[in-house]
Amino acid sequence: MPFGPVAPFDLVAMEERVLARWRSDGVVEHVRRLRADGEPWIFYEGPPTANGRPGLHHVWARVFKDLYPRFQTMRGRAVPRKGGWDCHGLPVELEVEKELGLTSKVQIEEYGVAEFNQRCRDSVSRYVEDWSSLTTRSGVWIDTADAYWTLSNDYIESVWWIVRQLWDKDLLYEGHRVSPYCPRCGTALSSHEMGQPGVYQEVTDPSVYVRFPLRAGGPTASLTEGADLLVWTTTPWTLLSNVAAAVGPDITHVRVNEPDGRDLVLAEAAAERLFGAGAPYDVTWRGRGAELVGARYDRPFTLVDYRGGEEAAQGERVVAAAFVSTDDGSGIVHLAPAFGEDDAAVGRDEGLPVLNPVDADGRFDRRAGAFAGLRVKAADAAIIDDLRDRGLLVREQPYRHSYPHCWRCDTPLIYWAKTSWFARTSARREDLLAQNQRVNWYPGHIKDGRFGKWLETNVDWALSRDRYWGTPLPVWRCEAGHDTCIGSVAELSDLAGKDLADLDLHRPWVDDVVIDCPACGDPARRLPPVLDTWFDSGSMPAAQHHHPFEGVERFEASFPADFICEAIDQTRGWFYTLLAVNTLVFGATPYRNVVCLNLLVDGEGKKASKSRGNVLDPWHIFDTMGADALRWNFFSVGQPWSPRHVREDSIRDSTRATLLTLWNVFSFFCTYADLDGWEAGGEGASAEPTHVLDRWVLGELDATVAEVTATLEAFDALAASTRLGRFVDDLSNWYVRRSRPRFWKASDPAAQHTLHRCLVVTAELLAPFCPFLADELWISLTDELSVHAADWPTPSGHADAALSR
Ligand SMILES: [Zn+2]
Ligand SMILES: [Zn+2]
Repeated sequence: MPFGPVAPFDLVAMEERVLARWRSDGVVEHVRRLRADGEPWIFYEGPPTANGRPGLHHVWARVFKDLYPRFQTMRGRAVPRKGGWDCHGLPVELEVEKELGLTSKVQIEEYGVAEFNQRCRDSVSRYVEDWSSLTTRSGVWIDTADAYWTLSNDYIESVWWIVRQLWDKDLLYEGHRVSPYCPRCGTALSSHEMGQPGVYQEVTDPSVYVRFPLRAGGPTASLTEGADLLVWTTTPWTLLSNVAAAVGPDITHVRVNEPDGRDLVLAEAAAERLFGAGAPYDVTWRGRGAELVGARYDRPFTLVDYRGGEEAAQGERVVAAAFVSTDDGSGIVHLAPAFGEDDAAVGRDEGLPVLNPVDADGRFDRRAGAFAGLRVKAADAAIIDDLRDRGLLVREQPYRHSYPHCWRCDTPLIYWAKTSWFARTSARREDLLAQNQRVNWYPGHIKDGRFGKWLETNVDWALSRDRYWGTPLPVWRCEAGHDTCIGSVAELSDLAGKDLADLDLHRPWVDDVVIDCPACGDPARRLPPVLDTWFDSGSMPAAQHHHPFEGVERFEASFPADFICEAIDQTRGWFYTLLAVNTLVFGATPYRNVVCLNLLVDGEGKKASKSRGNVLDPWHIFDTMGADALRWNFFSVGQPWSPRHVREDSIRDSTRATLLTLWNVFSFFCTYADLDGWEAGGEGASAEPTHVLDRWVLGELDATVAEVTATLEAFDALAASTRLGRFVDDLSNWYVRRSRPRFWKASDPAAQHTLHRCLVVTAELLAPFCPFLADELWISLTDELSVHAADWPTPSGHADAALSR
């Protein structure tokens, strides 16, 4: 069989050719069947959010998710490549809201939840097609045809079963907590969402110094007579809900004489800052903050009433709090337990009232008088004017600080007291830490660094979202307040007294199901929230197989995963939720090895994103340079956990250095082999090479095989690709260059055999990295079906230490 003629080097055309061949020859299915009985090596697909067209950074993750499974498949392992799509959640809802021009939850409900959710479903399907074609074109063998969809009834039923496990273990509860809250999305954000990039942004807010007039009389009468606390806040709108002022008990405070009015009480360090160190201000008292504790004052706004005398008796007093510092402001902190995490914690300890006149859409309700209907932050100016008019404003100044914004819609968040459902993860913190110790992280410092530290500060996971497009929280409640957590469709059917096997488990359909309360027999209705979409993806090991309703064996055989790979910010996302759900429910980490990828950045080190317009389009690269060119660049130019700047010239350079060089060697070989009518397995095929160049290059080949194998086992794509690239360079610049005369005139079959073997093995080593090019070379050289069905090479025993440089 002739090897040539060899086409000109054109990766794009070649890849299309190979893709067509994979399809027509059923190569993927063939490889799957070939390895089906191998020892399993399990990969979990962290489901991409099927929202928005996939970009270059998605290809970045997908090719790493392809590399190691390809390698292990060639090593003889059975590697299921089940894909998955994350279908629920706010991103999808926001997209549909934009499409429909809706801007609030009220509008969504007027539009109709059924129709709205149908639109969400359609949107997901649309993007899944984009994702599937990009996956195929990238040479990534994740099986998108067999993907799990988190929106499917089966998937939802498994998630319900998992929620029910939490319930049965007393790890699920309804609580009231101040959470970061997006008034636009109408939902609280969990702590891992707060860890998403771009949440904290530098902004300028108005900060105000406000008088809180101390009441005369009481145990601190001599100190408080004729004086006002000077209180500082960067959120003036929260003053409507003020119920206490906090001081650091050990911080030194002063009373400063104001010749024209009432005196001011504040921290001494703040007085120096406010009035100028050494300035002639007149201190009439100096003492510890503890001496102020218990003093009563008049709150700046009385619009929001207390509920009864008990609350009134608790409000408007000075309390001690450890978190108070004198770094900013006056050293006396205003407390509104409805709107701050620290405030709420002190409020719980002190029994302070919670006054919350703010609606779920972030506007003041009717209790706020003149401010009713205003968005809270928009009300700041009017509130400051009001304080000024009443002589309570001492100073106003802009304050630059880092403030959290919604990671999805960029709205400034507010801290807001609301009812949520929580998973009691903090009760299992030790388990989470112990399971983390069983995981290999790449890079290794993530384990006890970024991820371990994150686990150490674990707080309970706020699971519920007051939204529409999500897995419904499976809790039904009767009038008497009995809660029933449903763990399967069969159980729901049972309690509802009808067969619900065909019910769409989404809202609004599931909301119509009324059950008989098992405790009292009265009708019970589902509570409105849906689940955090991260709970869906964290449930995937079991839910992708519809465990435990079916697929029990498949689930058990594929738990835990040998390998997962996502962007590094998933330490607070999927890496965390996967560990949390599975540690709480199954008592074990669901993964053994994690490869963390950093961001793709532009030339200035800024995150490459579509909105910044600094991102390369993967399709453009595929159509002009080829997927293998991009893959090789991704693998060979740096560690994946360092930020990466992808440039077209860098892709061209790495392609030329290795892939084109290899192609040229291949072309050289084919030309002379065909001229001589050389055939693999012909004369001298099994002879031990004697020529020094043959012995040397085969020794290098053995060393390369050993090193690429070891480094890929250790998830070090860079070391593996670097070694392989060096061998290609050696092969071209040393072996071929110095052996040319043996091909030209003498037609030395030993040289042909040696070069043929080098090319075949190089193609095998290249197969996980550049699956198209490797396959094209390999089948040209061997006339067999596909390199991806080949066994991974092993050293042939030619290592000749004396000959290596
Ligand atoms: Zn938002
Ligand atoms: Zn009941």
